[in-house]
Amino acid sequence: MTLRVRIDQELCISSGKCVADEPEAFAFDDEELSVVQPGAARLSDDRLRRAARLCPGQAIILFDEAGQPVDVQ
Ligand code: SF4
Repeated sequence: MTLRVRIDQELCISSGKCVADEPEAFAFDDEELSVVQPGAARLSDDRLRRAARLCPGQAIILFDEAGQPVDVQ
């Protein structure tokens, strides 16, 4: 399965966890809210799941190929 990822910036608390752990996939915008980077497409599903699971704001949302949200908790 190839997961897709987006950030819910309403939930991002700017912890920097995803940016530090996976800089290829996540970066801060001018407001220090995380934004998905093109490199996210190169991350394995396991690494995306880990990033989503460890996000303290639960702001990293994963979707499966059918567009359904994936539970990572
Ligand atoms: S880990 Fe979550 S809360 Fe922290 S910067 Fe990334 S998206 Fe925002």
